[in-house]
Amino acid sequence: MPRLGVLGWPVAHSRSPAMHEAALAAAGLSGWSYQKLPVPPELLAETVRALPGARFFGANVTIPHKEAALGLASEATGPAREIGASNMLTFTDGAIRADNTDAPGLIAALPIEPAGRTALVLGAGGSARAVVWALTHAGAAEVRVWNRTPERAAKLAGELGARAVTAAAPADILVNCTAAGLDTTGPQLKHLPLHADHLSGYACVVDLVYRPGGTELVAHARRRDLLVVDGLDVLVHQGALSFERWTGLPAPLEVMQAAARAAP
Ligand code: NDP
Repeated sequence: MPRLGVLGWPVAHSRSPAMHEAALAAAGLSGWSYQKLPVPPELLAETVRALPGARFFGANVTIPHKEAALGLASEATGPAREIGASNMLTFTDGAIRADNTDAPGLIAALPIEPAGRTALVLGAGGSARAVVWALTHAGAAEVRVWNRTPERAAKLAGELGARAVTAAAPADILVNCTAAGLDTTGPQLKHLPLHADHLSGYACVVDLVYRPGGTELVAHARRRDLLVVDGLDVLVHQGALSFERWTGLPAPLEVMQAAARAAP
């Protein structure tokens, strides 16, 4: 019976198990299962190599392992290789295959077409790489990247055809790809180059982070009537694509949405 899971550190907050378990049940795949795989960085390599032997067919990959996961793969899709990060591993025939559904998942979740638009991406980790790649490939006019550690923003921008910036300026699309706000009690905006009063300078605000009750960024954006995509919207779309690529079946999107929103 195939097993699936999500590798992360921390991963206790992840709603992927609830969402995928609901999808597997709705698709009649009663023998499949999906679980959290809390793995610290120093144990990632040996854990990933051991998963196929423990009947794992695949794993999603989240913070902070996406770039390392690509390095562990024996094969990678073109997008995963170009992005330099993987959020989806598949174990078949002794191979570890890396894919990336964060990029198409973001585009599917966006309420506006990125073509011809400007974007500001906050962060320079694995998910920021996928978002910058996705927006650039969807025809964005300019993608700017800010990161707490500016050298990482400069490196990412150089590799993926974006522009590193050290301050936020208005753009059509704002995407938070930092882990700021992941802590369920801590503040978020004070870690980012954003002031709530300036959020109206963005037409569409996307926050990859999700936490119970929503994030500070999403709350401020909703209060200003901006187009908002929250972390659960993005989670569902990348998860649906992972589900389809693993099972070969259409993803039950509404079931996944309901399960992700209902999960504690
Ligand atoms: P990585 O560990 O690869 O990158 C983390 C990023 O967050 C880095 O840019 C880091 O900056 C920045 N960061 C961490 N802490 C802070 C802070 N206190 N203030 C400002 N910046 C900070 O993680 P991922 O890219 O994989 O994930 C980033 C976030 O996106 C996570 O919260 C994750 O849960 C979420 N995510 C959600 C998805 C969804 O489907 N909704 C999909 C993918 C990710 P620095 O370089 O300076 O360390």
